[in-house]
Amino acid sequence: MECLICRNQIQNNIKFTSLFFMYQDEVYLCDECRDQFEPIRSKHCPSCYKSGIDEVCQDCLYWQKRGKEVNHRALYTYNQAMKQYFSAYKFQGDYLLRKVFSPIIRKVLVAYKGYTIVPIPLSNESFQKRKFNQVTGFLDATALTYCNLLKISRQGKPTQSSKTREERLKAEQFFVIDSTKKIPEKVLLVDDIYTTGATMILAKDLLVESGVKIVKTFSLAR
Ligand SMILES: [Zn+2]
Ligand SMILES: [Zn+2]
Repeated sequence: MECLICRNQIQNNIKFTSLFFMYQDEVYLCDECRDQFEPIRSKHCPSCYKSGIDEVCQDCLYWQKRGKEVNHRALYTYNQAMKQYFSAYKFQGDYLLRKVFSPIIRKVLVAYKGYTIVPIPLSNESFQKRKFNQVTGFLDATALTYCNLLKISRQGKPTQSSKTREERLKAEQFFVIDSTKKIPEKVLLVDDIYTTGATMILAKDLLVESGVKIVKTFSLAR
């Protein structure tokens, strides 16, 4: 089997050096590439999994002050290797890369029993460019059932890069509910990268307004 990142042959599929990866049923990365990624370990923000701190982080405090509760889990820090990974996966469109983290994503998501998995949708513009939603790509690779309950409103999502952090946090609602779908009791929102939490909070607000009782959130990177 070839490593999906460096394309070298994976020598030994049985040798696991990290406990974190023990439960991978399939191996898509060689040891060298795998070691470049940084799993978020025990020291993290209790609300959002921001790595390296024990107390509630600045982003979560911001939301707390506005009466928004954060209940997020992330698996990896958004380090250089993760940036490169997303650049190859999203922007160069290497669709095979959706599989890299699927064993661990699957393992973590199945633990959310009774939750309907809802991916954060892509704007039409991004979808035209990319031809796939990177989040549903991950989910398809896990073979778990999910529901495309959210859509981007017709006005579309403002491009994030052109905005300051403060503007981004104040962004207006751009999600809409797909009215053909039934509203579940509990939702696990899934995104690729969690930055300030603004996207998740917007989506969560809409779900709660629409009658969802409990919303938790998940991302591959934070
Ligand atoms: Zn490799
Ligand atoms: Zn936090």
